[in-house]
This record gives sequence, C-alpha cells and structure tokens, in this order.
Amino acid sequence: MLPLGWRKIKAPNGVVYLAIEEFLATGLVRQGFTSRHGGVSEGPYSSLNLAFHVGDDPERVRENRRRLAAAADFSPEKVVTGEQVHGQHVAVVGQEEAGRGALDRESALPATDGLVTAEKGIVLTTFYADCVPLFFLDPVRRVVAVSHAGWRGIAHGIGPRTVEVMVEEAGCRVEDIMAGIGPAIDSCCYEVDEKVKDEVTRNFPSLGEVFRPSRPGHFWFDPAGAACRQLLASGIKEENVFRAGMCTSCRRDLFFSHRGEGGKTGRMAAFIGLL
Ligand SMILES: [Zn+2]
Repeated sequence: MLPLGWRKIKAPNGVVYLAIEEFLATGLVRQGFTSRHGGVSEGPYSSLNLAFHVGDDPERVRENRRRLAAAADFSPEKVVTGEQVHGQHVAVVGQEEAGRGALDRESALPATDGLVTAEKGIVLTTFYADCVPLFFLDPVRRVVAVSHAGWRGIAHGIGPRTVEVMVEEAGCRVEDIMAGIGPAIDSCCYEVDEKVKDEVTRNFPSLGEVFRPSRPGHFWFDPAGAACRQLLASGIKEENVFRAGMCTSCRRDLFFSHRGEGGKTGRMAAFIGLL
C-alpha cells in the first residue's frame, strides 16, 4: 500500500514509477520516482538502472533512459542532469542546458545536486539508491525543482538551499511551494556513526532529535525525516509536503538500495518537468 498522496504507475512499456497525486492533479507537471522495474539491465542492475557511473553497460543505461522517457512521455533531449557530489549547489536551468547528461555522463552539469527550472518541456532528473529525492512545485509561479539529499546533502542544507534559489532566483513565494519527499532508506535499516550525527547537527542542531541511539557511538537515522524538518523550517507549509514514507532497503522488491545490497546496485531516477 502506498501512503496517501503517492500512486504507482505502470507504463505500457513495463516501466513502473511512483508519482505524487497532488502534483499531477495541478495539470502542470510530469513527475515521478522510478522503481527498479521495466528496464534491460541485468545482475545487480536489474532491471531499470538509470545511472552510468555504477559499472553497468552504458548501452543498457541509455536504453533504460529512453524507456523512462517513453513511459513518462518526454523527449530524452529535454533532460537535464547534474553530476551529484553530495554538495549544496543548485542550478537554475533552461533550454540552453537541455540534453546535458541526458544520454551520457560527461556532459552533466558539474557538481550539481539540485536543479530548478521555469521553462516548459525541460525534465530535471537526479539519481538515487537510498538518498532522499526532494521534489518541488510552485503552481503559482510555475517553477519546478528536484534535489538530491543524502546525509551530506542534509548537512549542507540542500533542501533549504533549493527553496532559497526558487525564492531568490525564480520569484517563488515559499508559502506556495509544494514539496514531495520520495522513497529513501529509513531508520529501520540505516545505522550511522557519531561523525554523521556531528556533521548533520553542526548547522542544524534541532536535527539531533532524528538520531536514535543504537549501539555505543552509533545511531539509527531517518534522512527523509531530517529533510522534511528542514523544509518545514524553510517555511514550506506542512499541508504542502507529501512524503512517500517507504524504505528503499526494506522494499528491495521495488527499489535499488546501496546499503541493502552492499554497494553494488543500480540507481532510480527522480524526474520533474513543466508541461
Ligand atoms: Zn528499512
């Protein structure tokens, strides 16, 4: 069962992805978070691996990306991706960047973990295996964004930074912004050490509450919960936040999980674009 707000979509070509009902209901966007199903990759990448950097055959990755584009009805030439470095850089992009990193790794925007656009047709895309996918839609100014929040991204405040860029560079009002928090590894499966807790709480002391002690020097951590708190602290209204609340490591039937599969696995994609 999916939490209220999220639904599973199975495209005619077999690609399975999840989407936020409330985002689609605006009629303004295509949006989704892929599952591992519907692609042509094999072994640990079976089957819809969408990332080039994990050791999969690049031809299969290209075919998987084309399958996703067909499933969600967009053109691969309109995709924009960033080289994700667990940083805090958020880029505002448009037609000029269309196709960057769409079908190869080299042309992705360097060191970019967040993408914002106000231009129709552009499809912002980021990749995941446990980290938190954050989706943003301002239905008033018609601006969308996506950002990649692992624990390092959370420590850098990638979510709040994305909101800031939407407000400062795209003219959004924070009270209009809808936010989606996709499937990510949850505290049931995600133990971290003191170093992670120290880095995350250095700039965000209130996130200390998100860490539950496990064994000495270790904690269970819920990165989606931490990212959610950061977005609320940025001023996004609680009723505008839609959380998938699914653990990628518990649900390996549906998702790739870096922690759950010992590192060698594929990547899901988070995508959003204005229609
Ligand atoms: Zn779990």
